[in-house]
Order: sequence, then structure tokens, then C-alpha cells
Amino acid sequence: MRYGSRHLIDLNLLEENYLKLKKLCPSNEALFMVKADAYGHGLVNITDFSYNELGIKNFGCATIGEALKLREELGGERFEVYVFSDIQLQLQNYSEAYLDQRLIPVLTNFDDLNFFLNEACFNHFPICLKFNTGMNRLGFNWTEVEAVAQKLKSKGRKKIYHLMTHFACASQSMFKNKRNNDQRERFDEIKKFLRAEGFEIERTSISNSGAIEQLVGLEESHVRPGLMMYGPSSLIPQLSEKTHWDGKIISSLETYVIKVFDVKKGWPVGYGATPVPEEGKVAIIALGYGDGFSTRFTGTQLNFNEYKGTVVGRVNMDMSQVLFPSNCPIKEGDKFTVWNENPAHFNQLCEKMETIPYEVFIQLTSRVPKVYRLK
Ligand SMILES: *Cc1c(COP(=O)(O)O)cnc(C)c1O
Repeated sequence: MRYGSRHLIDLNLLEENYLKLKKLCPSNEALFMVKADAYGHGLVNITDFSYNELGIKNFGCATIGEALKLREELGGERFEVYVFSDIQLQLQNYSEAYLDQRLIPVLTNFDDLNFFLNEACFNHFPICLKFNTGMNRLGFNWTEVEAVAQKLKSKGRKKIYHLMTHFACASQSMFKNKRNNDQRERFDEIKKFLRAEGFEIERTSISNSGAIEQLVGLEESHVRPGLMMYGPSSLIPQLSEKTHWDGKIISSLETYVIKVFDVKKGWPVGYGATPVPEEGKVAIIALGYGDGFSTRFTGTQLNFNEYKGTVVGRVNMDMSQVLFPSNCPIKEGDKFTVWNENPAHFNQLCEKMETIPYEVFIQLTSRVPKVYRLK
């Protein structure tokens, strides 16, 4: 555990983001994706706040383990939990858990569907189906919709609780990208076909953050936001002007300065004796790759007040070096903020790191305590 470094999560900002989301899609209900420890922000705390304070009623996990943790820690069946990918439906203790805890498995293949339909205990349990409309990951293929319909009918099931699909390219244009258009058309065809076959479809959803930001998929009953709720836009930088999203990053990553010293251009610092590119002041900060401050942070710009710093040399396991101009007043013991609520700076970090916001959040380790703030 670290002292003096923390991942500070501002729940008021989560609320602000949710209110902004509601403005974008006032008539859609949110199925909030909290998989992967709520994208690194703490599964239980984020869900607890979102349900009790924001009134969100549907949550999406990736694994049965995450879903069970939510039930164990938050109790009851007051909100819905969907399990999206690692569903483990056919393991006996888990199939019982779905029933007992009312967790909804997202069915994506005939193996699981057959199992579900053949077990009498699931007779009255809601059916949630995900179709592959072109992403080619999980999901019943869009060409298999007839076979799926047959299967359901043969077991007397005429109701589909939630029908969904997922975009492969939601970070790209929903209007110009052919794949996105194809996926939207195929989903429409699936819905039409199933309704023509007499199925009652209670809920539908297609859009994750990238699509919601472009106001697409809002004709469905539900939207499935993940990343945007935590702040960042998920559109590619070239599309950043097309987004309707102006969320704030709900967390800041804070640490402190362990030591400051002056360097001349070319002076070696740290492992590998990496020469610094300029003369200036090196601040050693108390974060390294052991904390999830990955080696990709090398070369990124981190600011101290209005002074621009650059991460230089190698990132160590438990500390890193940031080079500032000589006139920067940074000193030992100062608080140092890696990112804050400003999405432009956060995006710039991700771009420089050649990675995506999802990964930057998620790679923080448990060594950095999460601290929640609520006014
Ligand atoms: C993760 C996920 C989402 C949320 O995606 P974001 O890009 O984070 O908004 C929505 N739907 C499914 C099926 C997912 O796996």
C-alpha cells in the first residue's frame, strides 16, 4: 500500500456525467457497464452510488465473479445485473447462482441457449440474447436468427427480455463507417424478423459510449454506457469534434514529490543512465509501474501548476522522474497530480502513451488506494 499516492474518485463528477448522459438520451434507460472493477474505479462503490444516489437500475459485469461480488456486498435483488462474457452458465454452482441471485446471463451461443432452455429451473427466467451483427466476437450470428427463433419456439418461449448487439467500430463515425451502418441494419432486420415471428421483445440495446456520443441507437429502450460515465470520450481524435459528450474525468491520480534536483542537459538519470534531453529540474514522484504508472508514461507531459513537465528516463517500479524547467518552483513534499478532471489533458496522455483511456484506468494496481469523495 502507498501512502501519499491515491486514486481519488469524485462521485459528484460521476453524478454530473450521468446527468449529462440523461440530457443526451432522456428516453433511454441506462445499463451501466461496471465490468473490470468499474473500469478501475471500484466495482462495489461505483455500483452502490449509482444505484442508491443516481437511481440507475441495470449494471453490466463481464464475469459471474463480478456479479456475485455485487450481490454479496450490496445484497438483495434490488438492481439488475447482467453477465456479459465469462458466464460459466453450465457449471452447476453458477447456474444455481444465476437463479438464486437473479443474475442475467447474456446468451451468445447455442450451447448455452440449449442448456438454458432445457433446464426446467430456467423456464420462467428472462432470456437475454446478444447477436453478432459484424463484430465477430461473441454472439449468435445474424444469419442464425431463424435457428434461434425455432429453438425458442420449440420450447414455448415467446418472450425475449433483452435483445442486444455490440458495435465493433463505435469509436469511428456512426454515419460514414460502413461497418457501423451494416451492423445497425442487421440489428434492425433481426428485430423485425423476431417480431414478425410473434416474439415479444421487452428491451433492446445497441449503443455503447462511442455510439451514444454520436446520438445513435437511441431508438432502442436501453443504452449501455461504459467509458463515458467515467469521463473520457471514446471517439478517435480525428472525430473529437463530432462528439456530443463533454464529460469530466471522475478521478484524479495524485502522488507527491520525493526529491528534486537540478540537472544539466545530457545528465544520466536512473536505470539505464538515460540522459535528460534538457537542463532543468528533475522531480522524483512516488509512482512507478508497480502502481500501474506504466512504462508507457515515458515522454508524457505532466504539469505542475502552469509548468510543463516531461516524464524522462525509465519508469521504475515505485518511482518516476519528471523533468521541469529550472524556474519551476516544485519542491520536495509537494502534491503532484498526474491527471485530474480535465478530459483534454487525459486524452493527450493516452495519445502520447499510444493506448486507450480504458487501459490507463484499469492498469492502476491495488497499491494505489482508491479514495471516494462526495460533497
Ligand atoms: C464494455 C461494453 C459496453 C460499454 O462500452 P464502452 O465503450 O465502455 O461504453 C457496452 N456493451 C458491451 C457488450 C460491452 O462489452
